[in-house]
Amino acid sequence: MPARPEPIADRYSAWRLLTESLSGNRGWKPAWRKPEPKPAYDVIIVGGGGHGLATAHYLASVHGITNVAVVEKGPIGLGNAGRNTTIVRSNYGLPSNTRFYEWSLKLWEGLEQDLNYNVMMSQRGVLNLFHSDSQRDATARRGNSMRLQGVDAELLDREQVRAMAPFIAMDNPMFPIFGGLLQRRGGTARHDAVVWGFARAADRRGVDIIEHCEVTGIRREGGRVIGVETTRGFIGAKKVGVAVAGNTSRLATMAGLKLPVESHLLQAFVSEAIKPMIDSVVTFGAGHFYISQSDKGGLVFGGDLDGYNSYSQRGNLPLVEHLMGAAVSMIPSMSRLRVLRQWAGIMDMTMDSSPFICKTPIDGLYFNGGWCYGGFKATPGSGWCFAHTIANDAPHAFNADLTIERFRDGRMIDERGAGPNPWAQ
Ligand SMILES: Cc1cc2nc3c(=O)[nH]c(=O)nc-3n(C[C@H](O)[C@H](O)[C@H](O)COP(=O)(O)OP(=O)(O)OC[C@H]3O[C@@H](n4cnc5c(N)ncnc54)[C@H](O)[C@@H]3O)c2cc1C
Repeated sequence: MPARPEPIADRYSAWRLLTESLSGNRGWKPAWRKPEPKPAYDVIIVGGGGHGLATAHYLASVHGITNVAVVEKGPIGLGNAGRNTTIVRSNYGLPSNTRFYEWSLKLWEGLEQDLNYNVMMSQRGVLNLFHSDSQRDATARRGNSMRLQGVDAELLDREQVRAMAPFIAMDNPMFPIFGGLLQRRGGTARHDAVVWGFARAADRRGVDIIEHCEVTGIRREGGRVIGVETTRGFIGAKKVGVAVAGNTSRLATMAGLKLPVESHLLQAFVSEAIKPMIDSVVTFGAGHFYISQSDKGGLVFGGDLDGYNSYSQRGNLPLVEHLMGAAVSMIPSMSRLRVLRQWAGIMDMTMDSSPFICKTPIDGLYFNGGWCYGGFKATPGSGWCFAHTIANDAPHAFNADLTIERFRDGRMIDERGAGPNPWAQ
């Protein structure tokens, strides 16, 4: 098992809460500083989402590299990190994916201690339903593959699903429920807290988090990266790691690279608050629909991509209609609920629905992207592997297969078996 980081100083604790409350709460510091950019750093990470901040944290805490800046065009955490439906799991079928996502889940399991921050990790279980014999076969195969790699998976029959999720319409004539695959260690985490926790832990180790600083160019000299052009001037760097999710292809273009990535929209919804009804995460295999209930009581749900390329961060109505249809087919009582809020994020979809965490043909330039709509669960694992790759100029075994060369060489990691169709994944 790889090493975990040492805890940070300036810790939150019950004792600290008590002493601060007795002294007028004057000892708290901002969770992260607002520094001016230095002329140069050892490493610049572009993108202050979960992945970029996690990378900075692990560079400092695991590899002792603290002369690091995270450069973010807006405030941190307002990209996909703050827009996702917070589902965390490692129930993948292909061994290289299972290995990577299971390491990420193990990091999640100790993240609150590592960061000294409450990320509200809730291992409430993730239940994937299946609706036909052939889907049962495929799901059982995935569960078996997980178990062979030491990851927890349980195949539930119809009656076990009914007992666990009595709100589901089991006998919908089009989508009858045949059973489900349950990963009990899966669940949810509070996405904003994850961003703030990584930011605070990185900051306390000396990382500069520079907000409102957009990268507009990647400067190279003799085949090597030497820094980034930004809206606040040039910042030099020996190494640059890019973790910008939906903007991956834009940053690649700045470096003269062309990646097989398409940007698509993904929407999410939250209903008005109701009493506790759904105590796990449930995903439906007929079409694409997933749902959980937040601690405030709202039902949080989402589904398919909008299905056309866009950088707009705003979804469109046809998908809303499609998703509400799926919701009511699976959970008829939802027809009486009101939707409170809707939003969208930009997904960097790869042709095989798997990500890349890798070196590039340009010395000192590294890319982390292609998360499609599954990157939240990967946040700690992605940051950990990206930090390892940047620090050692070589991947860790967990991300050795997650290269961009695989697209050139035709070695796809086609988890969904959907072929080269980003909109179908
Ligand atoms: C509606 C929705 C639901 C989702 N649900 C789930 C889920 O349940 N489970 C799951 O695992 N995943 C889910 N995802 C996917 C997940 O959120 C993403 O894959 C993951 O958050 C991407 O990594 P990130 O957090 O670093 O990205 P982001 O938070 O998007 O970070 C990238 C950052 O880069 C910055 N940036 C971009 N361009 C520049 C530039 N030129 N200069 C400087 N900064 C720049 C952006 O402002 C942004 O802050 C969902 C996504 C959405 C939108």
